Amino acid sequence: MLYHSTNKQVAPVDLKEAILRSLPADNGLYMPEILPVLPAEFWQIWRHLSIQEIGFAIAEAFFGEDVPAAALREIVEGTLSFPAPVEGIAPGDHILELFHGPTLAFKDFGARFMARLMAWLVRGDNRELTVLVATSGDTGGAVASAFHRVPGTRVIILYPKGKVSGLQEKQLTTLGDNITALEIDGTFDDCQRLVKSAFLDRELSESLNLTSANSINLARLVPQSFYYFEAARSLPEGVKPVFVVPSGNFGNLTAGLLAVQLGLPVEHFVAATNANDVVPQYLKSGDYQPRPSVATISNAMDVGAPSNFARMQALFGGSWEAMRGKISGYSFTDDQTRAAMRTVKATLGYDLDPHAAVGWLAAQKWRAAHPGTATITLGTAHPAKFLDVMEEELGKDVVEIPERLAILADREKVAIQMAADEEAFKAWLKR
Ligand SMILES: *Cc1c(COP(=O)(O)O)cnc(C)c1O
Repeated sequence: MLYHSTNKQVAPVDLKEAILRSLPADNGLYMPEILPVLPAEFWQIWRHLSIQEIGFAIAEAFFGEDVPAAALREIVEGTLSFPAPVEGIAPGDHILELFHGPTLAFKDFGARFMARLMAWLVRGDNRELTVLVATSGDTGGAVASAFHRVPGTRVIILYPKGKVSGLQEKQLTTLGDNITALEIDGTFDDCQRLVKSAFLDRELSESLNLTSANSINLARLVPQSFYYFEAARSLPEGVKPVFVVPSGNFGNLTAGLLAVQLGLPVEHFVAATNANDVVPQYLKSGDYQPRPSVATISNAMDVGAPSNFARMQALFGGSWEAMRGKISGYSFTDDQTRAAMRTVKATLGYDLDPHAAVGWLAAQKWRAAHPGTATITLGTAHPAKFLDVMEEELGKDVVEIPERLAILADREKVAIQMAADEEAFKAWLKR
């Protein structure tokens, strides 16, 4: 399979180039030349397959020309080593819990698949792959966990000092081995700038065999389509789900659109955002106006210029009418989000993290306007990851902390301190 850039200014590349270089030189995003559709035989049996078998069928449709079936099966099975259950919390109101993986956020699906696919792509290359990633929280932890002890790789994570939660920091800084954490005296934007400066330095980039693990990488997107299938078939046959997706960079929602391309029947998508509502605004007006992000309590969605928007547009042939026919957008304030967390706990006994709470609000709004429909809201993170906000709203010791998060508290943080200075960063990399 070849991959072309959404901007169409550069020649198509092969899978290895698309995954390891990840950013086309024309600043577009890679898309597969052909969007696969799952065959009729798949649709006869899909309700009876395991999620691993569904994942394999999807992975094969995208990557089967380039990766042998046995290797692909191993990659999928290594990725899907934890469940993605659907919880019905009220009639028509479902939560797809995507937070049962090693770092308790949906990003585990994409990161684990990407690590395994990258390791396969560089097998026998005889040189180490250096994965650079800037994180504002969840991405770094998922990538660190996914690449930990993967042969032939080392990972360098840049995170802004004092701006990630205590538990998130432990997820980045306690693994050791091939994972190195750099604590940058600056903001998330500084971290991203440093990463970019390393990639722009061709000599450095070549000599270290640099690759990026950010959310625009296709290897993170494809596995995120797996769980849309798993969730859709949890509803009675013939009921088409409305997926409500708490969104920031819109990778998760784009993966849902890929699922539809593959043939999955989906009634509609609802894009749920916090005050960073560039996409809901676009869906309303047809006017796309990216702008600087504002800070909210659902901080993994604080994105002012969603990086997957170009892919969404490509999937609708650039048509605003077509996009708004399939996706609606709603945004909510922090006060509304906090109230939702309290209400759902009090009335339904369910703990919503601030991101899922934004989704839940959007789901109520959708069902109020479309009675009798079934919504499935993506539960993107475990509530324990956002303990501060949870305890503010629900009280102390209400949220249970899973063992794998709790044990991190006693582990020793190891991070290299660094100024937000491009030359210092590059000099460190060279050493
Ligand atoms: C990353 C993240 C999101 C946003 O996902 P996108 O794919 O960037 O839209 C939402 N919730 C949580 C908890 C996240 O970590």
